[in-house]
Amino acid sequence: MSKKFNIAVVGATGAVGNQMIECLEERDFPIATIRFLASSRSAGQVLEFKGRPVLVEELKADSFAGIDIALFSAGGDRSREFCPAAVRAGAVCIDNSSAWRMDPDVPLVVPEVNADAIARYTKKGIIANPNCSTIQMVVALKPLHDAATIRRIVVSTYQAVSGTGKQAIAELEKQVRDLFNGRQAIPKVYPHQIAFNCLPQIDSFEENGYTKEEMKMVNETRKIMGADIKVTATAVRVPVFYGHSESVNIETEKRLTVAQARVLLENAPGVRLVDDPAERSYPMAIAAAGQDLTLVGRIRQDESIENGLNLWIVADNIRKGAATNAVQIAEILVQKYIKR
Ligand code: NAP
Repeated sequence: MSKKFNIAVVGATGAVGNQMIECLEERDFPIATIRFLASSRSAGQVLEFKGRPVLVEELKADSFAGIDIALFSAGGDRSREFCPAAVRAGAVCIDNSSAWRMDPDVPLVVPEVNADAIARYTKKGIIANPNCSTIQMVVALKPLHDAATIRRIVVSTYQAVSGTGKQAIAELEKQVRDLFNGRQAIPKVYPHQIAFNCLPQIDSFEENGYTKEEMKMVNETRKIMGADIKVTATAVRVPVFYGHSESVNIETEKRLTVAQARVLLENAPGVRLVDDPAERSYPMAIAAAGQDLTLVGRIRQDESIENGLNLWIVADNIRKGAATNAVQIAEILVQKYIKR
């Protein structure tokens, strides 16, 4: 009989946690037992796994006895506090928060790009899942970097509200309903109304005037790609429920034609080329939502520089941008590294 593993989902009641549960089911992950953990607010709730009821328990330091893999998506504070406890209990943590991403002893992994980095999980027992906007960008750019060496990236994002979690999804829904019914839209999760609006602020501002989200794209891209690429980012929240879109400009060392880029992307793992302007075919959030591939299109030569391309990159932020990427890492862990 093939090996099966004891899994804990931390933040099981959240947007990402719910999707992780679905991904584990869909991909038929080899599970012996599964434990759902969340805050005391949700303790006692019953969720389902493969048609069977599973009780949600309160996350505590002693929640991890017997757990092989703990999938964390309950915010950075919980990851900082509880990942070490989970590791002491013998679990490997795959963490969706930003808590450990830039720790030099923690691999930051997108399987299509740097799966080999997983081997370094033994240093701390933690593997970090990158920021959602970064994941889809590096999936699309890795094959182009391998072929032509990317020197500089200029990216602007159009990010869905699900990237902020379940309360933000509810806020967009409510504001749309309120405005249609002649009521005021009251912002709670976001600093301003998100319905029928775009907010050029994701997360808080740093001293240099960039937001944390923008700096995550700068720093995480370099760590994952293992390259000294210059990156500059503008991150914008848009009134879309699921699916982050990105306008990406790259400058390369060697020249890449649009035709060459299309061939590279057609054959790239995790990518679907959607690029037929004559048919008005290009990536859209509504097409990316609910599936795991990163859609790439609108590929054009940047005519303002010698070696440059423009691309439009879209993916489901909750799936490939979070849950699917984490489960893919767990799959490699159990196939190659963890012995039971
Ligand atoms: P969410 O929908 O707000 O869910 C948060 C989860 O964390 C819920 O299960 C919540 O439990 C749990 N939680 C909150 N406080 C807790 C506490 N004190 N103790 C135990 N559990 C607690 O947020 P989300 O979007 O799923 O995001 C979760 C994490 O994933 C964040 O770190 C986020 O940065 C990261 N992430 C999100 C995305 C995305 O696209 N949404 C992408 C990449 C990474 P209750 O239901 O009991 O409150």
